[in-house]
This record gives sequence, structure tokens and C-alpha cells, in this order.
Amino acid sequence: MQKPRFIFVTGGVVSSLGKGIASASLAALLQARGYKVRCRKLDPYLNVDPGTMSPIQHGEVYVTDDGAESDLDLGHYERFTGVAAKQSDNITTGRIYLNVIARERKGDYLGATVQVIPHVTDAIKNFVKSDLGDEDFVLVEIGGTVGDIEGLPFLEAIRQLGNELGRERTLFIHLTLLPYISTSGELKTKPTQHSVKELLSVGIQPGVLVCRADREIPEGERRKIALFCNVPERNVIAGLDVDTIYDVPIAYHAQKFDRVVLEHFGMDASKEPDLSRWQQIVSRIRQPESEVKIAVVGKYTTMLDSYKSLSEALIHGGIANNVRVNAWWVDSEVFESEDAVRKLEGVSAILVPGGFGERGTLGKIRAAQFAREHKVPYFGICFGMQMAVIEVARHLASMPGASSTEFAPQENPVVGLMTEWMKGNQLEKRAIGGDLGGTMRLGNYSCHLLKGSKARAAYGDQEKINERHRHRYEVNIHFKAALEKAGLIFSGMSPDGQLPEIVELKDHPWFLGVQFHPELKSKPFAPHPLFTAFVRAGLERSRLV
Ligand code: GLN
Repeated sequence: MQKPRFIFVTGGVVSSLGKGIASASLAALLQARGYKVRCRKLDPYLNVDPGTMSPIQHGEVYVTDDGAESDLDLGHYERFTGVAAKQSDNITTGRIYLNVIARERKGDYLGATVQVIPHVTDAIKNFVKSDLGDEDFVLVEIGGTVGDIEGLPFLEAIRQLGNELGRERTLFIHLTLLPYISTSGELKTKPTQHSVKELLSVGIQPGVLVCRADREIPEGERRKIALFCNVPERNVIAGLDVDTIYDVPIAYHAQKFDRVVLEHFGMDASKEPDLSRWQQIVSRIRQPESEVKIAVVGKYTTMLDSYKSLSEALIHGGIANNVRVNAWWVDSEVFESEDAVRKLEGVSAILVPGGFGERGTLGKIRAAQFAREHKVPYFGICFGMQMAVIEVARHLASMPGASSTEFAPQENPVVGLMTEWMKGNQLEKRAIGGDLGGTMRLGNYSCHLLKGSKARAAYGDQEKINERHRHRYEVNIHFKAALEKAGLIFSGMSPDGQLPEIVELKDHPWFLGVQFHPELKSKPFAPHPLFTAFVRAGLERSRLV
């Protein structure tokens, strides 16, 4: 049979049902059965990518190796399958239209009237089928909820694909919610029926329904859903709430989800998949030996999806050390009043994550200062590194006005705008005041590690590493000597020696700042070495105090 097979995942009733986790978990199950998988996301909004959106609106911007600023669901896919996500795994209406309109301007449509059907839908279909190799399954999640106006061209495109490729190469999965009504003591199926109707109205009959519910679905309700939604009863899968997302593949398997999918495609499902690695992770999460409290001092703490990869990477660091990480998400503005920083006394470690803009920076600088002075393990990621460097410059290197040009022109710009840097052998250039979208230093860049440093020790004494970046400003190399004199070690540098990638403090148990985003590469099966080392340092601290 011709490969790959496409599995389209849509959502209905309400948003936030966890389509990303559902797709990632099914992909993980198929992978555990020995199949090659790839996951993709179609986002119906008009932004070209989420790079210019506030994380409070949209959640984290997940950066891929090839420098795409993409949807956070790509992070779930990568964490669950270990398959590195790419630019070609995420598209938005904005990007589709950008391409279609550029072609129209070039005259590529040869005089045709350019329309949503067929031109936009063709562009979506081409995208879905593009840049694939020998994958057995491509799981394609459609963002938003069925019934959204902006989602229609995507539904139309996947409907057409279903026709063109046939049942043996496509499957439609629809994720819905069964709300529990306490006064009647029932899980209600009507919203699911309506949602499937909505999908049918655009010509899509789902083959499998995954019904989110906070309790077991009684046989009667399951039968009713099957009957009214026109699917076999065994194709109604319960998506029950679980205490850790890493239990979802196991829970799905218990519901025979993977078997139902294979049988849909007429494939042999007799051999059971090996899920032992998932079981190990879940049991480690559920039965840790101890706990550590880590303060995460950020700006987007009202929307925890803003820090999705980070919160997962902390869990992974916990798995590696057999501890539960209790993250205390605290708005940095809390520390703008001098006394408040004492609230950090009870924590075992402090992390300042990535961020943009001046608001809340004083609190971050104070948190870094507290960590330095009280010898609390500190991990500064991207902006968190820049704030730590500013702290050291201000308080140890006699530059009280040291700051970043991100906020205003500075007398001592210890953090400054990058206008030129090397990407492999190529020079990348940016103009001051240029476009904000897609113009940062993005994606994988390598970094050389200093012998004998804590950073290098964490990476198992590797000399060269590759990490993903997303930043416009950079610790200014012209201040390197002064900062070194103040006690900062530049333990990671870009290959040309121009861009500081990692700094650490002398005479401190563990104080590291990194210009890249290690959280993006962390996986439950392969916790990122810096998170492993950071959580370990926190654990050691918790034993001391
Ligand atoms: N705002 C900073 C910069 O652009 C840091 C970015 C980040 O933390 N991702 O360099």
C-alpha cells in the first residue's frame, strides 16, 4: 500500500480539549508499534506564524531546529515521539494566503480568478503532503473548533484529501467533550452529537470519536454516541482526565485506540506494542523519592501555556533525579519592592525564563541577585541570562546603569542588539527598526564549551553542542573582559567566538545563564542535561537548608 496514511484530528464542543496531546499520544502509540510517524498542525488564524503573538494570547512559541516559530503543539509532538519538528509541520492561514497572493502577483495563476476553492484549498493540500519521506502515518491536527469560520477552508481541504486518497489512506478523528451534569448525575452526549453534525455539514464523517470526560462513560452513553454519530461502538474512545499527560498513551492503549486505528486501515494489530518506557516515566512521576521547590520568576505566569516546554523540562529534570519539582510560578513584578525578594528564602532553586520588554525586569534582576548572594542555584534562560549579566555588571563590575538596548539606548549596553551574526558560513544581517516577524536569531546554532566549566560538566564533557535560539539581543562581547574580572565565566561561545552563549559564576554552587532555550529539546525519555543538573543542584540545596 502507498504510504503515508493521513490521520486528521479535529476538535468540537469547546477548545482546550487537548487535541495536541491526543495527536501526540496516538502518534507515540503507533510509533511503539514500530511505525514511522510525523505530526503536523494547521492553524486557521491570520498571523503568518505565532512569533509576533503575545504568549499570554497564544501560549509558548515553539522553535524548531530549522528556525520556525511555531505552535506549541509541535512541542508536544516532539516530546512524545522524539521526532524533531520542522517548519514544514506547521502552517497558518496567514502563511497560506501570503504564498497564494505572492503567486497571484507573479502571474502564476495565468489569468484565473483566484479563489478560496480551489486555490487556497489546493495550497493547504499541497502543504499537508509536502516534505514527507517514508512515514507510515502523518497525523494532522486542525487548530480551533469545528464551526469556526476561519477553519472552513482547512476542513474543506482535508475533506477533499479524504476523497482523493480514499478511506484506506485517511482517517478522521474528532475530539469532543461529554460534560457531566451533576443535578441529573449524567454525562451528556448531545454536544458531541451536534459537533459531529457540524462536521457532517462540511462533508466529513469522523471514523473515531475521542470523548473527553471526567469519569467513565457508561455503556448506554457510549452506545448512544455510536448510534447517533454513525461510528462503531468500539470507535468511541474515552479520553478520561489523567494526573500526568504522559499517561495518555497508556490510557488510550487500554481503550484499544491504536488497534481501532490500525483496523481502520486494514492493518494487522495482533502484536501488542511495548509501552514499558511510558510506564517507567509515569511511575517515576507518581512515586518520586523527594520534592524540590523551584521559583520560576517570569512575566507570563497568568498563562502557564506560555511556559509549556519549560514546565515539561522541569518535570523531566525531576524524572532524571527521582524528585517531584514543585514549580512556584511567580510574577517578577512581585519583587520590585525590595523586601519581597525575601519570599525566595524558602525555595531550593530559582529560574528566570525567556521574555521580552522592560516590564518586570527589576524583579528578575533582584531574583538573580538574591540567587547569587544567597548561593541558591540559578538558571537564567535567554532573557534570564541577560538579566543575570546585567545584575553582575551593575553590582560587581561598577556599572550601575548597565542595561539592555532592548529597553532604550544605554550608556553601558551590556546587552545589545545583534545586527550581524554567522549562520554556518553565511552572514545574517538585520536592520535597526526592521520587521519584527521571523527576524530573530532563530533555530539551531552550535556552541563551544569551556573545559572545566559547570556547563561542560552538565553536558557530559562534550566540546560542542547545538541548541535552539530565539533572540534579538545578545550579551555584548565588548564587556567580556570587565565581566570576567567581576567573576563571570564565559563557558559557552559561538564557534566564531563573538556571541556569548553560556555564562556562569565562579564560587557559586550552580549559577548558569544560557542564551538559548534548552527546554525546547527536553524529552521525558531524554531529560535535557542542563535541567537534570539544575534540578540536582536544587535538590542538594534542599538538603542543606
Ligand atoms: N528579549 C530578549 C531578546 O530578544 C530575550 C528573548 C528571549 O528570552 N527569548 O534577546
